[in-house]
Amino acid sequence: MNIILCNFTLNMNTFYKLLIILSFICRCNCVSFSMQPENFTRYGLVDVTTCDTTFVVALMYASTDNFVGENMYGELNKAYLHRDAASALKKASTYLHEIYPGYNLKICDAARPMSVQTRMFNSVKGTPKARYVANPSKGGGLHNYGLAVDITIVDENGDELPMGTKVDHLGVEANIDKEQVLVRQGVITQTEADNRMLLRNIMKRAGFRPLPTEWWHFNFCTLSHARKYYKRLDF
Ligand SMILES: [Zn+2]
Repeated sequence: MNIILCNFTLNMNTFYKLLIILSFICRCNCVSFSMQPENFTRYGLVDVTTCDTTFVVALMYASTDNFVGENMYGELNKAYLHRDAASALKKASTYLHEIYPGYNLKICDAARPMSVQTRMFNSVKGTPKARYVANPSKGGGLHNYGLAVDITIVDENGDELPMGTKVDHLGVEANIDKEQVLVRQGVITQTEADNRMLLRNIMKRAGFRPLPTEWWHFNFCTLSHARKYYKRLDF
């Protein structure tokens, strides 16, 4: 079958190929549009490096090296948080530098708009990975308010401290509630457990709360508090 479009006669195969290319271009543009810095600042969020220039930022969802296997953030290379969470994170960085002046905090994810949350949820829907992604139809999670951060520590060479798993690893190896059991079982080393403890101590001292299943994830407050007092990133 042929189709006439703007004086061109297209074979249906070619037409479908064009549609696929167009939808891909549209999807890329939507990602880059939602991840524009002004969208974050409009919601009162701040680029964390304006609070502390020692933060290392490497957003895992701005590449395909993440558990979804897709670039969700386009070209974004800045981490945004609500100013309350950003100033607490600056405190955590100060506490780290008091103990290890050469170490720095590396931010792997911070604020995430709802449009990206929906795309992420749809990518893993119906798979075992779905339980790790907050359901957008239930309101999303604290990343969607700029009140959660995925974070690790780098040494004076910029290398990540060994933590037993990569950031975003799915599995019990990433749990924080039974780390000494994991050490005894040889799943993680004592040094890896100690590094996680160092991260947890400085983050908790700065006011963050850890998550039992992900050593790298920290919430600034509870979800109910966020819903009451903060604005969700509806873009
Ligand atoms: Zn997280």
